[in-house]
Amino acid sequence: MSDDKFEFELPYSTPVMPVRLELNDELKFRCHRGVSCWNECCSHADVTLAPYDIIRLKDRLGMDSSEFLKQHTVPFQLDAHGVPGLKLRTNDDGACLFMQEEGCSVYSDRPTACRYYPSGVLSMKAQDEPTDEMHFLLVKEDHCKGHEEDHFQTIAEFRKEQGVEEYDDLNREWYQIILKKKSTGPAIGKPSEMSLQMFFMASYDIDRFRRFVMSDAFIKMYDLSDEEYDELEKDDIALMQFGSRLMKQVFFGEMSIKEREGAWEKRIEERREILEYRKQAEIAEHQRKQEEARKAALESGSGTDKDH
Ligand code: SF4
Ligand code: SF4
Repeated sequence: MSDDKFEFELPYSTPVMPVRLELNDELKFRCHRGVSCWNECCSHADVTLAPYDIIRLKDRLGMDSSEFLKQHTVPFQLDAHGVPGLKLRTNDDGACLFMQEEGCSVYSDRPTACRYYPSGVLSMKAQDEPTDEMHFLLVKEDHCKGHEEDHFQTIAEFRKEQGVEEYDDLNREWYQIILKKKSTGPAIGKPSEMSLQMFFMASYDIDRFRRFVMSDAFIKMYDLSDEEYDELEKDDIALMQFGSRLMKQVFFGEMSIKEREGAWEKRIEERREILEYRKQAEIAEHQRKQEEARKAALESGSGTDKDH
């Protein structure tokens, strides 16, 4: 199968053409404190974040997700429809804010893309296949001297060593959404502004998403059990995975979360009432202004008469 049947998604940008690898392919590479290029990669970091990366980092820093996003991320667009993505914030020279002389200050909670470097997971999907497949890539950038080390391991061993399997497993559903959105984009069209905002909140701002899921408006719409609500209230991972299910429902109509009977109709009816109310208010305001203008014209007309 030729590569042009696949869609590629690199976790970071690089001018170097990557080489495609499979789990059992061998990687000649080792990164350690003694390499001459120590910290070189983190000095010009371009790290795209996935939902589980953010949960690990905000917990590590003891921050609320909204505060973490404000201090440590910058937005970008994942596709032409404006699906929002996030990257780690850097300083003006492009260095990661977590980089220190001795290395990464959040090492045990570093994001997926950092764990994979100089390889990466390749989200690939044969255009005629319904499901995604996992393949990998390798980039050999000139500044990275780890490729000169005589250390060999398979991609499977490297993933285990870097603790990346857990990250991939937990982010899998979210990657599927991105992939499906890209491959079926023209067919489903541009998502509404409200859907894109929901995607942002469910993907990245988990603490705000929790408040939304616990709100009256949400409870009126979706029929979850008390046990499910209990779990979503306490468990970030369960909430993150629920967020992916919700977005599959919102973007693609894949119904896995039960909606309350008549909830949509009721909501549309409520919206209709609101729109009607707004329309009436606008008409009343327009009439009030016309009346004021008419009175002002009359008064100025009678004032002119008096002057003569
Ligand atoms: S999070 Fe750590 S490993 Fe990743 S770019 Fe920043 S300093 Fe480097
Ligand atoms: S060997 Fe590569 S990954 Fe390790 S510090 Fe150097 S540039 Fe970064």
